[in-house]
Amino acid sequence: MAYTILRGGRVLDIAAGTADFADLLIEDDTIREIGPPGAPAPEGAVEISAARRLLHPGLVNAHTHGHGNLAKGMGDRWTLELLLTAAPWITGNRSAEDKYLSTQLGAVEMVLKGCTACYDLSFEWPAPSSEGLALAGQAYADVGMRAVVAPMVADRSFYEAIPGLHEALAAPLKERVAELRLPPAEGTLAAIRSGLQNWPFDRDQIRPAVAPTIPHHCSDAFILGCAGLAREFEIGLHSHVAESKVQAITGIRLYGRTQTAHLDGLGVLGPHFTVAHGVWLDEPDMARLGDKGASVAHNPGSNMRLGSGLADARAMLERRVNLGIGTDGANCADNQNMYEAMRLASFVSKVQGPDWRRWLSTREAALAATEGSARALGFGGRVGRLAPGWKADIVMLDLDHPNWLPFNDPVNQLVHTEDGTALASVMIGGRLVVDNRKLLTVDLDRLRDRIAAASDRLAAANADNRRLYEALEPVIGSYCPGLALAPYHVHRYGARLQ
Ligand SMILES: [Zn+2]
Repeated sequence: MAYTILRGGRVLDIAAGTADFADLLIEDDTIREIGPPGAPAPEGAVEISAARRLLHPGLVNAHTHGHGNLAKGMGDRWTLELLLTAAPWITGNRSAEDKYLSTQLGAVEMVLKGCTACYDLSFEWPAPSSEGLALAGQAYADVGMRAVVAPMVADRSFYEAIPGLHEALAAPLKERVAELRLPPAEGTLAAIRSGLQNWPFDRDQIRPAVAPTIPHHCSDAFILGCAGLAREFEIGLHSHVAESKVQAITGIRLYGRTQTAHLDGLGVLGPHFTVAHGVWLDEPDMARLGDKGASVAHNPGSNMRLGSGLADARAMLERRVNLGIGTDGANCADNQNMYEAMRLASFVSKVQGPDWRRWLSTREAALAATEGSARALGFGGRVGRLAPGWKADIVMLDLDHPNWLPFNDPVNQLVHTEDGTALASVMIGGRLVVDNRKLLTVDLDRLRDRIAAASDRLAAANADNRRLYEALEPVIGSYCPGLALAPYHVHRYGARLQ
């Protein structure tokens, strides 16, 4: 048994809104006791001073993409549909080294910005592999982070998934996008199964899940295949649902009902199910998710960056949806800062109406970014709170930093003031990963060199894919907004097309 005691810090209780001085005793990877300062420690316990530190539960990123980190800043003024069009350019031709590096880069950014666990929807072209999933998992394990790694999969290309889009392309472009067709569902499902059967990590640290990427990018048989694997291996199921208006309208056209109603009809909703975004969910959809104990990963930064809209987190909470918060991938965020995501979740709620009582409080935003996200990851009741019996995933902020001068209210300042710059140390599962701003687990100089080399190599390898994007942009960039002009009403009355 290994004991560590953090002495003299202020320990944040988000629900109570307090940050009292306390000592925190950790046994192996778990918090054992929180007591008054000066409490006796077991013999041999490692003592760490937390004087002038605020201890808060590590933030949990409910939705990101490890493959997105090498593509940060590559675009601007992209809708979701233009981002999907850019995928071969910004994510193409990845080697095993690139897959590992991209994921590790995100993990490094996350821990340096106070995030200790994430749900990564990880993409490999053209299909997932046991090797690729293991590389992604290893990238998190090497940083010392907790993660859920879900292969992000589909059996229809973007061009097959959007009604009328393929027909809108000129013949030469039709030929080019035909090369982007995805392999048949059986092979992809078999590859995921193999990855799950050979999962090499302790599931307490690195868990697998499965992510049929967007409902209409998947045949029903494929969605059911993914859901079957989730059931069989007792893992999470995660999908981008009602993210953009184009998606919402496509769902109605294809299914005659919303994407969520369709997924409910397929019987795949449940406590293990996470909707990413849910910007265009109507109230019956939210009730379906809430009644089934499902989660929404709310990504306000990505939703604004891609012009997807503003998700109504208050309405979700009213329907008992479990709310988590995410950054989304760096290819559309373009950072991995959970402090910013939490702050935006608060702000996005506050611009949606004049009735301040319906606005998300800082307490609700902070609970969503910790316990709520953790529940979506499958770590519910074990990660996201500083209390005995919970995992020792602890961020220590410097209370002498300007962000905390003066110290007025710990939860308001955590959500509305902190931006990661006051971060001092990070512990994950009782292990110090960042100590006084220094990352202990990864050699950043070496990582920097490897990333520079990967980035040069990928720019050359994807030059053709970039040209393809440039040829497609005018077509996709006018066809999809045209589709999105259709009137579509959500929220009070249930979604409908006019
Ligand atoms: Zn996403």
